[in-house]
Formats: sequence, structure tokens, C-alpha cells
Amino acid sequence: MDQRFIRNFCIIAHIDHGKSTLADRLLEATSTVEKRKMKEQLLDQMDLERERGITIKLQPVRMRYDYVSLQEGDALSGEYTLNLIDTPGHVDFHYEVSRSLAAVEGAILLVDATKGVQAQTLANLYLAIEEGLEIIPVVNKIDLPAANVEKTKSEIVHILGCRKEDIILASGKTGIGIPEILRAVVDHVPMPRGDSDAPLRALIFDSVYDSYKGVVGYVRVVDGTVARDNHLYMMATAGESVAVEVGMMKPSLIPVDSLCAGDIGYIATGLKDVSFCRVGDTVTTMKRGGNRDASTLMTPLPGYKEVRPMVYASLYPVDGDDYALMRDALEKLKLNDAAFAFEPESNIALGRGFRCGFLGLLHLEIIQARLEREFDIEPTITTPSVVYEIQLRNGERMQLYSPSALPDPAMIESMFEPFVDLKIVAPASYLGAIMELSGSIRAEYKNTEYLDEERILLSFDAPLMDVIVNFHDRLKSVSSGFASMNYDPIGYRPSDVVRLDILVAGDLVDAFSRMVPKRNAFSEGNATVTKLKQVIPRHNFAIAIQAVVGGKVIARETISAFRKDVIAKLYGGDVTRKNKLLDKQRKGKKKMRAIGGVTIPPKAFLDVLRKE
Ligand code: GDP
Ligand code: MG
Repeated sequence: MDQRFIRNFCIIAHIDHGKSTLADRLLEATSTVEKRKMKEQLLDQMDLERERGITIKLQPVRMRYDYVSLQEGDALSGEYTLNLIDTPGHVDFHYEVSRSLAAVEGAILLVDATKGVQAQTLANLYLAIEEGLEIIPVVNKIDLPAANVEKTKSEIVHILGCRKEDIILASGKTGIGIPEILRAVVDHVPMPRGDSDAPLRALIFDSVYDSYKGVVGYVRVVDGTVARDNHLYMMATAGESVAVEVGMMKPSLIPVDSLCAGDIGYIATGLKDVSFCRVGDTVTTMKRGGNRDASTLMTPLPGYKEVRPMVYASLYPVDGDDYALMRDALEKLKLNDAAFAFEPESNIALGRGFRCGFLGLLHLEIIQARLEREFDIEPTITTPSVVYEIQLRNGERMQLYSPSALPDPAMIESMFEPFVDLKIVAPASYLGAIMELSGSIRAEYKNTEYLDEERILLSFDAPLMDVIVNFHDRLKSVSSGFASMNYDPIGYRPSDVVRLDILVAGDLVDAFSRMVPKRNAFSEGNATVTKLKQVIPRHNFAIAIQAVVGGKVIARETISAFRKDVIAKLYGGDVTRKNKLLDKQRKGKKKMRAIGGVTIPPKAFLDVLRKE
């Protein structure tokens, strides 16, 4: 295919500004999806995405578009292939966005006319600029009565430095502006500039697992072509296979004869071992070092920065027999979610499990929900924690992934915790409320920038831990939903955290242990035992719950004894019904974790972090 007639672009925006809805209109306008198959936010293909109304995964789709140049006889007129990648907007899924950006030449920057520029608008725009992408600014949702088009336009001019008349006005609801957007994509997004005659170089930007086709890599072909039955070599992992199928996303996978330079599509590798096909790797058809002329000169594509998890939590199967099942499930999830990381771990009370790394708590929640619904696994999840660094007296420096691994205090010289550059965008009228909120965490104010007369961008340095736990919800509530935030890691700083332990019925439950700032130890300890009193069910004996710091009990609650008589409401002698109820109770119990004779529901471990 002629690269002059290919355009690759993605849609970026703050969450809920209408990316997926706008993509629907583009699919309709280009007749990509049959009318009867069309549904709202079609590109949100996972059930979980549809239920929650958020995009979690990037999603590519190929469209055909007839472009008629305004100048008659212009060679630019013709049939174009437009490859669109829809992206998520939430901060936890930044990695999905950055991978999409590396596969395209342009980006549509959407801004909701009722909300204006928000924190993720900026964050994603900066990523796109860094990639050198052509930006097409669009004000969206202009159909809404509350739309403030002029104000939104000036905000975009402020952040992008474009001209007002370059901004397209659109509505994903009514379809206004859709033809203009399609034209602008052809006019402004640069054509791909790969070498069609060179050996294949394709960037893997995502992958999925198919039980028939093996690992399917989503690729951007940079140079060369790839067809079915081609021999494939992965440059970084040295994996080898044969292409069992190549094709395009429409958005379902449709086989084609070949993919050529400039194309976005998929290659089914047949590989069963997921570790050979890594996101960010370069696929080629030339064996490195095999054919001297071409392959030894060939350099892999830049790929991606390795993504570092922000929070860790351990997942333990409630039933030890499910360990292998769970490992299998986590591997499959990882294939589809390049930011997720895990490794085996064991714990005296909880048995064998996995230490898992996430980009944030929403990411954790999504993995938990996917385990439950796609694999029917409901693990115990330990209280999430960031990674602390410890300078030991013997000169060594160690990383602390889970509080239970904290060395003896006598061995510790100093502790460090990860900090982030926290950016908050909000109407200026909420400045006071936001400053007060940031005062409640350990944030250090840096500066304020005015995006226009009424909208401000605040910057803080703050500990990652304080930012990921509840801060977003609280920010939304103090700003009536108007403020938005983003954060980027800026390295480690000295910290005075101590370990807060929880004893249940006299036994240390280290899944509950967590690091807290010294000055908050007392209030956190209190809050935790109060919370646990609510979430641990009563037993037929009294249970003490104690919060302990450095061997000292700082808070205590008692759950009084109670015997739940499930068959009490049955009078009469129906034995089968009685047994059924007792059976149900037994099964319910099995799903809980018994520690020191006390059964703790798996969700309790996560609940202790949630504050009202
Ligand atoms: P995304 O998070 O950026 O993908 O946003 P979605 O496409 O999921 O849209 C978020 C919400 O805004 C949904 O409830 C949409 O129905 C609504 N929405 C999207 N575009 C428009 C629009 O142009 N006009 C109106 N009135 N609502 C819209
Ligand atoms: Mg979306």
C-alpha cells in the first residue's frame, strides 16, 4: 500500500471528555462498523470497561475514508486508510497512552467544552508533544447548553500555542464537526515515512492471547512488509516463530494478505510462551547475524521506557490449591496489561502467593475485578504499599516492597519514600479548599500558574503514598468535581515512616501491616481498628483488634461474641433445606481467610486503606 494514503493517529483527552464517543462517530462516518452492530463506546470492548464507562485498554481500529481535495485534480484525493487508536484517560493507564503515541504520527486533542482543560489534558498533551506528534485541537460536547466554547478555545490556545481558527468544534453526540476532523487528519497528520523495501521492523505496542493463534502482537509496521508464514524474530527477547496470521483491527481481528510499512495491524505468532513476545520489542523477518548485509546493520526501534509499578500488594489464593491456577491467570492478565508485574512470594500465615506491582489503586481494582470475573479467583489482597528505600547501618541500601520485610530498627540508618510532582487543575475559586486539602497530606506547595483568568494549575511535591490513597476522591469532593489531578515520580526523599502492625485475637496479621508517617501513626491506628471492627464478622468468641507501633499498643477495639444461627428461622423438620443452608454457610466460610481461628473476608485487607 502507498504510504501517502495512510494516516495513523490517536485520540487523547482527560477522562470522560468524550474520546470513545467521538471514535464511534468516526467509525460511523467511515462505515467501518455495520449499523446493526454499532453500540455506544464501541471501542470499549471489555465488559468491565462498558460497565464502568471508562476505557482501560488502548484500542486500535482501521477505517477507510474517501478524501476529496478542495483543489480539483489534486493528487491528494483518493481512498485513505486511517488507523485510529482510542486511549484511556485515567492517570493509572498512562502507559497505554504513551505506547499508543509511539505508534502514530498525530493526535486529536479533545477538550470537553463544559469542563475546559483538565490535568490529564495537559499530561497527555505533553506526552504527545514529546513524541513529536502533530496535534489537532478539538473542542467537544458543544451540543450541551453548558458548553463554553470561547473560554475552552482560549485555554487550548494557551496550552498549545495554536490559532483559534485551527480549533475544530465538535460533538460526539450529534456528529457536528466529524467531517472536519476526518479532513484535518488527512490534511495535517504527516504520512508515515517508512522504507517499504527495507527488512521488516515492526513495533509491538500491545498484545493479547488467543488460544488458537497464540500470542497476538499489535504492531506498527515501520519498515518493510510482513505476511503469513513469514519467519519472525523478536529482536530483544530473541524469540522466534512463524506468522500464523497477519491482519487488521476493525476492531475485531480481520486477516489480510500482508501488512506494509506505515500500517497498524496484528501478527499472530503462534507462540504459547508469552515471555517471547514483549510489548516494546521490534519484530523482524531477518535473523540477526544470519544475513550479514542487512540484519547486522539493522537497529531495533526505540521501544518503550520500562514502566515501574507505583504500588505493590500481595495476592494470595484463599485456597492454597489454587496457586497454579492463579499463576496462570496472572500470566494471561500480564500479557494484556504490560504495566502489570508479579512474582512469587510466600508468607507464613497466608501461604504461597504473588507480590504484584500496579500503577495505582484503580489499576489494582481492575486486576482484582478481572481475576474474579475472567478466572473466578477471589484472592486475599494485602494492604497496598509504595516501595520504600532503606539505608542500612552496614552501608547497604535495600528496597522495601512489603512492610513485613522491614529490618530490625537497630539496623536502619535512614528511610526514604517516593515523591511525586502533583499537578492540580481547578477553577480559581476552589484554591482555598484545595490548599486546605493539600495541607492534610504531606504535600509541599510549589507554585500556581494561571491557564486563563479563572483556571489555575497548582504544583506540589508530595509523597506518592499520600497521593494514591483517597486523595483523588477527596479532591473531587472539595471541588464539587471540578478539580483534576496528575502526578509524575520525582525520586526518593527522606521519610519518617514507621510500621503499623495489626493484631487480631493476639496474632500479628502481617497482611494488614503498613508504613505510616510517624505523626499519623496514632490516628491511622485508631482508624484501622475501627474499620476492622466493621468488616470482620462476629465469631462465637470475643476478638481483640489491636494496633501496634514499635511493640506498643496504640489503639484497641473488641468484637463481641455472637453465634450466627443460620437455621434459626427454620421451624419444622425439613432436613434438606437445613443442610442446604448449613452447606451455604460452610462455602461462605471457605472463601474467607482464617487467621488465629478468626475468619477475615478477603476484601478487609483493602478496606483498611479506604477512608470516609
Ligand atoms: P472518554 O472517557 O473520553 O472515552 O469519554 P466517553 O466517550 O466514554 O464519554 C463520556 C461521557 O460523555 C459519556 O456519558 C458520553 O455519552 C458523554 N459524551 C461524549 N461526547 C459527548 C458529546 O459530544 N455531547 C454530549 N452531550 N455528551 C457526550
Ligand atoms: Mg474512553
